[in-house]
Amino acid sequence: MLHWQQAAGKRHALDGPVPNEGGTFTTLCGNEVTVRRTDVIELGGDWLDPTCVSCDSAWRAR
Ligand SMILES: [Zn+2]
Repeated sequence: MLHWQQAAGKRHALDGPVPNEGGTFTTLCGNEVTVRRTDVIELGGDWLDPTCVSCDSAWRAR
């Protein structure tokens, strides 16, 4: 299951469950990133960061 999640300054996509605050995940573009509080909408974060182009193309390829 693919999801979008903001982390490390971009909105990345991941395959699998979305981690909680402080958790890490491997993006579709191959980066290991950490989720901060400001990346979690339920905790008051905003997804203002740009979509990761590499993840976007990887998502479309699925
Ligand atoms: Zn990405």
